[in-house]
Amino acid sequence: MLIAKERGCEVRIGTGVRRVRVEKIGANERVTGVELEDGTLLPASIVVSTSSARTTVTKLVGAAHFPESYVDRVMKIVGSMIAVQAKIGLKKRLVDAGCIVGGVGDGVDLLNVSTGDMKEMFASVTRGEVPPIVPFYCPVPTNFDPDLAPPGHQLLTVCAVAPTSDIALTDAPAAWEEAMLTALEKVVPGLRNEAVFVDRFSVEFIEKWIGKEFGPAVSTAQTPDQVGAKRLPTYTPLRGLYLAGCCAGGRGVGTELAAASAMECTDRILADLGMPLFSRTKSRREMTPLAV
Ligand SMILES: Cc1cc2nc3c(=O)[nH]c(=O)nc-3n(C[C@H](O)[C@H](O)[C@H](O)COP(=O)(O)OP(=O)(O)OC[C@H]3O[C@@H](n4cnc5c(N)ncnc54)[C@H](O)[C@@H]3O)c2cc1C
Repeated sequence: MLIAKERGCEVRIGTGVRRVRVEKIGANERVTGVELEDGTLLPASIVVSTSSARTTVTKLVGAAHFPESYVDRVMKIVGSMIAVQAKIGLKKRLVDAGCIVGGVGDGVDLLNVSTGDMKEMFASVTRGEVPPIVPFYCPVPTNFDPDLAPPGHQLLTVCAVAPTSDIALTDAPAAWEEAMLTALEKVVPGLRNEAVFVDRFSVEFIEKWIGKEFGPAVSTAQTPDQVGAKRLPTYTPLRGLYLAGCCAGGRGVGTELAAASAMECTDRILADLGMPLFSRTKSRREMTPLAV
C-alpha cells in the first residue's frame, strides 16, 4: 500500500464496490467506472476485480454484459472449501514448532493419518458433517517473531477445513469451531487452560470478510480441470474489465498464485494499452494487444 501511495495512487479501504458501471460507447459496451457502497461513482476506463469470477460477472457487472458462453464457463467454475479459524493467545509457550499440520481423530494422530482418512474427511465435509478426523494447520507466528506477543506468551493461528456456505450443514457452525479446538488440544495439551483469549472466526464471518459468494478460500479451486492453461484468463470479453487473484490467471497455489495472477494481469493491461512490459516477467499466455 505504501509503494502504491508513493507512486501516486489513492488507496481506499473499508469501501466496497457495489457495481461496475458499463456503458455503450460507439458499437461496443465497456466499463466506465465503479459505484461504491456509499453511492460514490468513480470513473475508470480499466477495472480489475479480485472478487470471484462468478461474483464479478453475476453481481458486480451483470451477466447480460457478457457473451452467454463466457457466463456458462464462469458459472461452471468450482470454488475451494473454506475453513473455520481461531487466534489463540497463550500465557506461556506450549509449542516449539513453527507450524503444526495434519489430521487428528479417534485413534488417528499427526503421525499415522492416511490418504484414506483424508478422502473420508472430504466426503464428510461435502455432506456438511464435521469429519471424524479433523485436518488443521496451525502456524505459530510468535516462534518467528516473539514481539508479536508480550514476553513469554505465544500466539497460535489455527484453521480447519469447513464447507462453503452453499453446502447445507448437518452440524451447526459452532460444532466446526469446537472440533478444530478439540483436535488442536489433542496435539497441544493444556491449550484451553493456558489461553488468555480464543478469537474464533466462523465461515459466515470469513465469507463477509473476503466478499466472495459462498466464501471459498480460493475462488477458482485448484482442481485438475481448473489449473494451468485451463484457468480463466485475466482479460474478459468486456472491454476494460480484468480479473486478478485466485479467480483467474497465474500459476501455483494460494497467495503465490494470486500474486502471479496480479503480475500477469498487469502485463496484459500494459500490452492492451500498447505500453512496454516490465522486464521481470513474461506471461506464458499470448499477449495480443486489444484496443481498450
Ligand atoms: C482461511 C484461509 C486460509 C488460507 N490459507 C492459505 C495458506 O496457508 N497459504 C496460501 O498460500 N493461501 C492460503 N489461503 C488462500 C489465499 O488467502 C488466497 O488464495 C489469496 O488470498 C487470494 O488472493 P486474492 O487477492 O485473489 O483474494 P483475497 O485475498 O480474498 O483479496 C480480495 C480482496 O478483494 C476485496 N473485495 C472483494 N469484493 C469486493 C468488493 N465488491 N469491493 C471491494 N473490495 C472487494 C476483499 O475484501 C479482499 O480484500 C487461505 C485462505 C483462507 C480464507
